[in-house]
Amino acid sequence: MSITEQLHQQRDAALTQIASAGDLATLESVRVAYLGKKGSLTAVLRGLGSLPPEERPLAGKVSNEVRVALEAALEARRAELSSVALKARIGAEALDVTLPGRSRPVGSRHLIEQIRAEVVDVFLGLGYQIAEGPEVELDYYNFTALNTPPDHPARSLQDTFYVRDLSGERSDIAGESDVLLRTHTSPVQVRVMESQKPPIYALAPGKVYRRDIADPSHLPQFTQIEGLVVDEGITFADLKGTLDHACKAIFGPDRRTRFRPHFFPFTEPSAEVDVSCGICAGSGCRFCKGTGWLEILGCGMVDPNVFGYVGIDPERYSGFAFGMGVERIAALKYDLPDLRVLLEGDMRFLRQF
Ligand SMILES: [Zn+2]
Repeated sequence: MSITEQLHQQRDAALTQIASAGDLATLESVRVAYLGKKGSLTAVLRGLGSLPPEERPLAGKVSNEVRVALEAALEARRAELSSVALKARIGAEALDVTLPGRSRPVGSRHLIEQIRAEVVDVFLGLGYQIAEGPEVELDYYNFTALNTPPDHPARSLQDTFYVRDLSGERSDIAGESDVLLRTHTSPVQVRVMESQKPPIYALAPGKVYRRDIADPSHLPQFTQIEGLVVDEGITFADLKGTLDHACKAIFGPDRRTRFRPHFFPFTEPSAEVDVSCGICAGSGCRFCKGTGWLEILGCGMVDPNVFGYVGIDPERYSGFAFGMGVERIAALKYDLPDLRVLLEGDMRFLRQF
């Protein structure tokens, strides 16, 4: 076989292998096998020196052509394989910046907390200060100092959760206990009046407890917001003006209020306050049971006897107090048929607010 034939044979074999190389590493091994230092084409080229002089020009020309052809084929295949590899990598690492991000669920204030904050805001705007007291309270603050004598029915075991010490370590709360879960936020008023001198403009929001079975209109634990004002020259007109303003701020400027005489042990005179029905605007509907009014809070002028317990001179000072239920406001504002939804933690309900 002539040297030219040998070179062409090598070229054809190399071109076939180059064309079938499936990746860059295989292609490189083909290049080394032919054009590397110990490659077969390199070996042929080295042998050119031993050829007879008349054959050398032709052999040199052909071998050069073969080398150029192989290098060109290698380069073309390398470009092809590189682009395939690049496309595969782009495909694998694809990042679609137009996809929406993964959002984390964001919590929100519970409806009770929202309304509490709303009401607190109204009274902060009127210059009231927030007051707090213990939820586990002494009988004295919950009843006695609020003019509720020991034989008063509100103290009954049916209505109040009393705290007893079952371990026997606390003799002061064993047996007949004078420690209880507060049944209203009114004991905070007594504590405020004990620790502050008038003028007092205080608002006490907080949880209270009654021995009720949970049903659509009762909860054993609910939230009250109680207000107390003690100052010189406070009259029932101040009470009416304050609560009318608050009801309009909470329910809307077109709502009206009315005051009905009522009885509470710690205020005299006392009243219950109704706000005009927001659904029928006072003409009467199913929601307001045909009356046009919705009962919303209790209030009254602080009974002089209560001032006596805390050492405030009833001849110099007068005041008023009021209390409202946050759950009831929620039910009226959002037409809730059952108060229990407020405590059940059902996300389908809570997400609506
Ligand atoms: Zn109505």
